[in-house]
Amino acid sequence: MPKRVAIIGAGPAGLMAAEVLSQYDYEIDVFEQKPSAARKFLMAGKTGLNISHAEPVDTFIQRYDRAEWLGPWIKQWDAQWIQNWMQGLGIESYIGSSGRIFPIEMKAAPLLRAWLKRLMADGVRFYYRHRCVDLSHNHLTIENQTEHFSATYDAIILACGAVSWSQLGSDGAWQPWLSKNEIEPFQASNAGVLKTWSPFMQACFGQPLKRVNAWVQSEQQTHGDIIITHYGFESGVIYKLGRDLRAQLAQKKRLQLHLDLLPDVSIDQLEKKLQGNKKQSLTNLWRKAGLDTIKINLLREIVEKSLWSDAKQMAQQIKQLSIPLDGFRPIEEAISCAGGVKQTAVSPQLQLQSNPYVFCCGEMLDWDAPTGGYLLTACFATGRAAAEGVNIFIK
Ligand SMILES: Cc1cc2nc3c(=O)[nH]c(=O)nc-3n(C[C@H](O)[C@H](O)[C@H](O)COP(=O)(O)OP(=O)(O)OC[C@H]3O[C@@H](n4cnc5c(N)ncnc54)[C@H](O)[C@@H]3O)c2cc1C
Repeated sequence: MPKRVAIIGAGPAGLMAAEVLSQYDYEIDVFEQKPSAARKFLMAGKTGLNISHAEPVDTFIQRYDRAEWLGPWIKQWDAQWIQNWMQGLGIESYIGSSGRIFPIEMKAAPLLRAWLKRLMADGVRFYYRHRCVDLSHNHLTIENQTEHFSATYDAIILACGAVSWSQLGSDGAWQPWLSKNEIEPFQASNAGVLKTWSPFMQACFGQPLKRVNAWVQSEQQTHGDIIITHYGFESGVIYKLGRDLRAQLAQKKRLQLHLDLLPDVSIDQLEKKLQGNKKQSLTNLWRKAGLDTIKINLLREIVEKSLWSDAKQMAQQIKQLSIPLDGFRPIEEAISCAGGVKQTAVSPQLQLQSNPYVFCCGEMLDWDAPTGGYLLTACFATGRAAAEGVNIFIK
């Protein structure tokens, strides 16, 4: 009798685990609570599926907060491996000017269709609208619309995702199956931040602060555009600072974002420009110094009016504008989550220390990375690693 493996969750991590196991002589059942597979992966493809990144792998792995944990797997199944894997499914990819890798068609749907077709041809069985409601040793309790049944497997892979965008399936309902000390509480990652604005700022909502430098701790500056929104700020630049902002929160410090609004101009040059002709309006003076309307409005919002005519003070503010923040957008809206099953709770094969029948992979593990293709790359790599672990365990 072939050994039986259950995979809970048909997201990218679970599907990649199924792909590895389908190369061996196992019976593989994938239980997915939604009516179809990989809904978050499809959502990721709506704005262009950024599946990986072409930077050198040693730089790549430093993007993760747990580089030493994920590094060996990412090195094994790196961006080039992902491009080749996509090609094997008939999907060509390209590297954008920023190094980000996308399928040429940008969408996730063609890739997912080809992938599921190949998995089914390789014998993987999919059970949609099947929700795992309990797990004990190697026994699962599964519910569908009509029944509630138990099933026993030689190994079980949990690929249930984290807790954001729960309408797509990752609802975190798996957490009670593990003990509290095995899970680092989830926090929003790659999420917008909150700032309460005065009504004056309404005209700026949806507008970008262009080409600014941003930082929480000065040694880790990031460069790019930041969008002002009705709730605060959003953009990849903000996402990159998420880890530093969470560290501030953990130290019970006031959340504070710092911006250099004109990174190409030195403070001395700026001070000279701001001295200008006294007859000019402040707005004209600031415009001539290189600030656009959005940056000018932000300065008016944040900097005390008594400083506006002081060239030295304003030059300092423009080069280091400190903006107090009120927190993060709700975790439900975050692109990904920090936290999850702790590294100490699993073996190097991603096998739970507390239950040898169970392996974990994907975003439900406690690692964090910015957007840029790093999230999916780690989901694929840990899905493969967990499946290799299962193979060692049951073969
Ligand atoms: C809007 C958006 C855009 C994104 N864009 C990108 C991007 O461009 N690049 C990138 O790298 N990443 C992106 N991501 C992140 C990426 O999609 C996720 O990191 C990835 O999908 C996580 O994969 P996973 O398999 O671990 O979990 P998920 O994709 O969340 O899949 C988990 C699956 O498990 C199922 N499940 C959970 N519990 C149960 C249960 N009890 N019983 C049965 N089934 C269960 C769920 O229904 C779900 O289908 C984006 C995310 C969002 C929300």
